[in-house]
Amino acid sequence: MLEPFIESPGLWRVPLPTPTLPPATTTNHYLVGDRRAVLVDPSAPARSSQDQLVALVNTAREQGIEVVALFLTHHHRDHVGAAQSLRVRLGLPVWAHAHTAALLPEIPVDRTINDGACVAENADGTTWQAVHTPGHAPGHLVLWHEATAMLVAGDMVAGEGTILVDPQDGHMGDYLASLEKMARLHPHGLAPAHGQVLHEALAVLTHYRMHRLAREHKVLESLPQEWTAPDVLLPAAYGDVSRLAWPIALRSMQSHLIHLQELGRVERNGDVWRRRN
Ligand SMILES: [Zn+2]
Repeated sequence: MLEPFIESPGLWRVPLPTPTLPPATTTNHYLVGDRRAVLVDPSAPARSSQDQLVALVNTAREQGIEVVALFLTHHHRDHVGAAQSLRVRLGLPVWAHAHTAALLPEIPVDRTINDGACVAENADGTTWQAVHTPGHAPGHLVLWHEATAMLVAGDMVAGEGTILVDPQDGHMGDYLASLEKMARLHPHGLAPAHGQVLHEALAVLTHYRMHRLAREHKVLESLPQEWTAPDVLLPAAYGDVSRLAWPIALRSMQSHLIHLQELGRVERNGDVWRRRN
């Protein structure tokens, strides 16, 4: 029988194996709220893992906690892989942002959640609020508990591994703005989807932002004024990163280039880029 980690009042964490981005191997399933609760990011594909989640929800119910929904922080596979099967097994609706719902045609989203929605409640009457934080994914939501200054952070930060802002469904400018939006809440703790809870929350958020801006500066500095393919820039812009990670770095760099283009610093012509004077 699984023992969830108790992270703060009304917050339990259950890491279970998922097909996620290495070096992470698990996704944290959070039960949020100890009066009215949601199960965040039902994703573990193995039947045995899902049995453990059913047992967790049943135990919560026996303790008088009303579990009301399955809550998706965003649409990525390692966050939603168990949503449909648990939706059926537990008879719970799926809640997610409208952008997430639009990207998940195979999973019925029963209720769309907007920025500011109250989604769970603790026994002392304090609430957990959804906050829209696009960037890693367009419909990304985090859960904010003002009373304990705890943020369930999804894939905005990682306790293990890194966060990829993929040009296919991510947006670097939005991601940077969302990190700032989270910092403005002055959280004490960040409960990420992968790895352990981070306690120096403001320092972590500042580090993430500064790290991205420093990388973006490197990308800009490495780009000549002649049309250039992005992979040529890897040694200069990502020389400190293992070559094994360069395929991922190339995708991240593409997001930086798009952001720099939006800022008017670089130009694009199909697959090649150049720095503007
Ligand atoms: Zn993700």
